[in-house]
Amino acid sequence: MAALPEVSLFNTLTRRIEPLQPLAPPRVTLYTCGPTVWNFAHIGNFRTFLFEDLLRRWLEHAGYDVFHIMNLTDVDDRTIKAARQAGRKLTEHTAPFTKAFFEDRDYLRIKPAHVYTAATEYMPQMIALVSKLLERGVAYKGEDGSVYFAIQKFPTYGRLSQLDKREIKVGARVASDEYAKGDPSDFALWKKADAEDESVGAAWDAPFGRGRPGWHLECSAMSLSEIAKCCGVETLDIHAGGIDLIFPHHENEIAQSEGATGKQFARHWVHGEFLNVKGTKMSKRHGNFLTARDLREQGIDAAAVRLLFFQTHYRQPVDFNDEALAGAAEGVRRLGEFRERLERESQNGDEPLRNIAAQLESDVASALSDDLNAPRAVAMLFDFVRVANRELDQHGAGARHALQALDRVMQVFEILPTRREVEASLAGWVEERIAARAQARKSKDFKAADAIRAELAAKGVEIEDTPTGTKWKTR
Ligand SMILES: [Zn+2]
Repeated sequence: MAALPEVSLFNTLTRRIEPLQPLAPPRVTLYTCGPTVWNFAHIGNFRTFLFEDLLRRWLEHAGYDVFHIMNLTDVDDRTIKAARQAGRKLTEHTAPFTKAFFEDRDYLRIKPAHVYTAATEYMPQMIALVSKLLERGVAYKGEDGSVYFAIQKFPTYGRLSQLDKREIKVGARVASDEYAKGDPSDFALWKKADAEDESVGAAWDAPFGRGRPGWHLECSAMSLSEIAKCCGVETLDIHAGGIDLIFPHHENEIAQSEGATGKQFARHWVHGEFLNVKGTKMSKRHGNFLTARDLREQGIDAAAVRLLFFQTHYRQPVDFNDEALAGAAEGVRRLGEFRERLERESQNGDEPLRNIAAQLESDVASALSDDLNAPRAVAMLFDFVRVANRELDQHGAGARHALQALDRVMQVFEILPTRREVEASLAGWVEERIAARAQARKSKDFKAADAIRAELAAKGVEIEDTPTGTKWKTR
């Protein structure tokens, strides 16, 4: 097997760009914190999921065998509150939002994870993890009936978020899933069930009392369970998420996991920056809560959203606005046209595009292997389009290698235009007219053939005769 290329990524744990060193290459275990399915995921969540998609696609392209786990938070403070307000059971409330999340994921061309872990399906693992932490003396049952993690018993607490340990308030406890930044306190692993939890069906029996897991506990229990099942290990190669999850969520995941296993929880911690939404029509309608379906309903090509995000490094904030989106849509259109041109001209010889295509692939590889530098890779891609178009204009030389290289690069970025959905009836009619035209041409009735072409054009259908037959597309 060929040696795997070195891929470097910023590691939040050390605050340095470091080569990825999976436990058992080529396998890479990747855990990404998923959506809380109390509502539709917003486009800021999807910026995180898209950078993780690019990371996974790049690792796979580079030859790694990625095992990707994503959780679905279907029990936490927010889902319970939303279910109660809607007057539904927890799972009745979350199921449609889970379905919507998968639809949005597909719209945005995000590769499905290998496993989606819904918290409600991992209660035995969560209960076992809490029991283990109690046994090891790093957790205790409070007089309120909830079980807490004692951060004083975990000396490296605060390492990921670089919190000043002097701030730890001895004996202070936080039961809420999301609490104040910079307030390191004992946090709830298991919350004693209250009337609200019971009313929506969010309470489970456990040896330490009837209750429900805290959000942080869920990710530890589910990730450890899945990597044990798949790979017999207790350490993740990469744990990724949005930058807002560093504290307290990821800090607490480390404490719980390492407190139970005594092993390092994740070798590489990768965090993506925020998305800012300003000045879009959608934001006027929805405040800053802009969902992927808002974009889809407006007919925005997912390729433009992907390109827009990839034009900024994942560790830099992106400003999402109409102008930036229009610019990305124009870029996607250019790529689509370029690919069509390469397809048309790919029958000719190989030079000189072969060399610049090879250069493109090597440039993209070095950019993405250098802390996933997508903006640099994308800039090189558009340079390639410009140079290749010029070569084609000047020499009319072949494009087959350029087409193959472009398609390989597109497997990583997925930013070619989405073909417009054509109604099945139109497609059937078009195929029938193309067959009639072919027949007319065969019998040298060019007048009839031209009439059919005009008829198709009137319906917005353009045709093109190629050596492999007549191709068509809608305008
Ligand atoms: Zn998580």
